[in-house]
Order: sequence, then C-alpha cells, then structure tokens
Amino acid sequence: MRLVLLGPPGAGKGTQAARLVAKHGIPQLSTGDMLRAAVKAQTPIGRQAKAVMDAGNLVSDDIVVGIVADRIEEPDARKGFILDGFPRTVAQAEALEAMLARKGLKLDGVIELDVDHDKLVERIERRAQEARATGVPVRKDDDPEVFKTRLQTYNRDTAVVTPFYKSRGMLRVIDGMQPIERVAADIDRALAPH
Ligand code: AMP
Repeated sequence: MRLVLLGPPGAGKGTQAARLVAKHGIPQLSTGDMLRAAVKAQTPIGRQAKAVMDAGNLVSDDIVVGIVADRIEEPDARKGFILDGFPRTVAQAEALEAMLARKGLKLDGVIELDVDHDKLVERIERRAQEARATGVPVRKDDDPEVFKTRLQTYNRDTAVVTPFYKSRGMLRVIDGMQPIERVAADIDRALAPH
C-alpha cells in the first residue's frame, strides 16, 4: 500500500502513520524525520536545511524530492510506504507522481486529516509540555511561535496540495479533531476496498 497523509503540522499525522506501520507492515517515510537526521549527522543537506527548518519554513523541493526518491528505492519500501509530511508543494506532488509512474506505480490513497487550526496551537503547546515532563527534548520548531510560522507556511504553500489530489479523485478527508481511535477507524474505513 502506498499512502500519503496530509494535514497541517500537529494534525496527528505522525501518530496515525505509526499505527498504520504496525497494521500494514510498511515503513513510515517522514521527510521531517529524515531531514532532522540529516541535520543531526551534519550532512551537507542537513547543514543546508537546518536554518530553514528552525525558522519553520520549507526546505527546497529539489532537496526533499531527492531524499524521497532515494528512500523509496530502499528494500523495505518496495511493498509500500506511508508518506508523512510529503508532498508539501504541488511541485513535490508532481515529482512523486512522476517517480512512481516511472516504476509503473501509483498511490493507493491520500488521506487528509482535517483539523481546526486554532486548536492546533493548543495541541502543540500540550505536546511540548508532555515532552518536557518526560524529559524528551522539545523540538525547536514546536516552540509555539515557530509553530505559528509552520501553520502559516502550511496555509500559504501546502494547502494547495489538497486540491491537487482532490482533482484526481484520490483525496479522502477525515475529521482529525476526533479522538485518536476514531480517526484511526475512519482511516481504516477510507482505505478498505470499496
Ligand atoms: P515535519 O516534522 O513534517 O513537521 O517537518 C519539519 C520541518 O522539516 C518542516 O517545518 C520543514 O522545514 C521541513 N520539511 C519536512 N518535510 C518537508 C517537505 N516535504 N518539504 C519541505 N520542507 C519539509
């Protein structure tokens, strides 16, 4: 199964992706995680991406598309994958479509977690508090001020990805404000063969 999870930062994509990994036995490909790993390892890409990420802006399409193109070639992604945080621009969505088409493949589903943006800031503050309470370092970009920039970036650059998939009849919209289990059940229903 090849799946894309869409939705603004804090919508619960990571949580739902982790569950889908366990259920379907396919990897979660999070471009945010991959970029953070590159930053930590101080690779050339990481060094280029760090300031952009810390400010809550988007890393260039070329870099991110290159990372995803390499990653989906790895053996564990052959059976399928869940893309989390990618595509974030129409250029990325088109690049993904082209790279899959070259292999004779298509996406099986695109799920959007629809959430109330005002409530997201509260949610992200809670996430930062919980991380602090358990001694996990808080992500720099989960700082509420940076988070607001990420949300603005989403509304400016990434919201256009939804109509891209809608026009292709691929989009399934799920109410992401429900409890985690309800969201999970709705995703499973949306992915069940019709
Ligand atoms: P995330 O963990 O998905 O919220 O991503 C964290 C940060 O990594 C984002 O705020 C961007 O700076 C960068 N990033 C992750 N995925 C992408 C992408 N598909 N395109 C551009 N930048 C990305």
